[in-house]
Formats: sequence, structure tokens, C-alpha cells
Amino acid sequence: MSDMLQMAKAFYADWRRYGKDAKKHDAWIRKHARNRGWSVNPRWMIYTNLKLWISDAEAMYGRRYCPCYEPSGDSELDRKLICPCQFAQAEIDTIGWCHCTLFGRGDLTAADYKRAEGRLMAEYRGTHIWSASPNCAAWAVR
Ligand code: SF4
Repeated sequence: MSDMLQMAKAFYADWRRYGKDAKKHDAWIRKHARNRGWSVNPRWMIYTNLKLWISDAEAMYGRRYCPCYEPSGDSELDRKLICPCQFAQAEIDTIGWCHCTLFGRGDLTAADYKRAEGRLMAEYRGTHIWSASPNCAAWAVR
């Protein structure tokens, strides 16, 4: 099965399971962004996936942990990585967006978010490109 087909199947499986929960996340995500002067990733596919992954974390662990984080058992660290995490503002100030690209600076465009997603994907493929964000202690655990 091709990677694309596998991704599409996983997406629809998650959507069937968490679609309703994902919709409910819209409200707090947008409210939080408004309050902080941030923007929200306007790209539907990644935004929807991020909400599904937050829903998955909430279902598994009872808290809406960052989509790219698995609770460590260290309660202090885990608490810092409940979305919106305690690293988001520093990341946004430094590179323009939070690690997962859910939130970004208020002036980011869809093209900026696309670029951010490209960097995130490169990271997951094993290319270390996050040296631009040296202040974020979260990198050590992600
Ligand atoms: S990196 Fe972004 S998506 Fe992940 S917890 Fe922080 S604010 Fe939420």
C-alpha cells in the first residue's frame, strides 16, 4: 500500500473515532490564539490532524497533550506539555510557530505555515533542523 493511501486510511479511521471531539477543540484553540495574539494554522488537513491527535491523547491519557509528545511519567514535564504547551510562546517568538505548527505568530500566512510543516516533516524524517530554537527545552524530550 502506498504511503499516501496508508495516511488517508489512518486519517479517516481517526476521523471516524474522534471527529466530534476534534470539532469541540476549535473553540478553545481559536479563543486561546485570539487572547495571545497568535494565528491558528489555516491549512485544513494539518489543522484537522492536529485536533484528531489531541483528541487521541485526551482519550488515552485524560489530558490534551501535545500531538508530538507522549507523557513521560514526570508530572512536572508532562504538565508543561498540555496543549497549549509552556514552550509555545518561546517557539513562536523564536521561529514563528509552535513545534507542531498549530499556532503561529499573528501575521503568518498559509504559505508560512506550509513552510513550517515542511520543517516539521523533515524533522520526523530524521533531519535535525531545529537548532533555530535553542531555548525550547521541549526538544530534548521530543
Ligand atoms: S507545540 Fe503547539 S500543538 Fe504542541 S502542545 Fe505546544 S502549542 Fe500545542
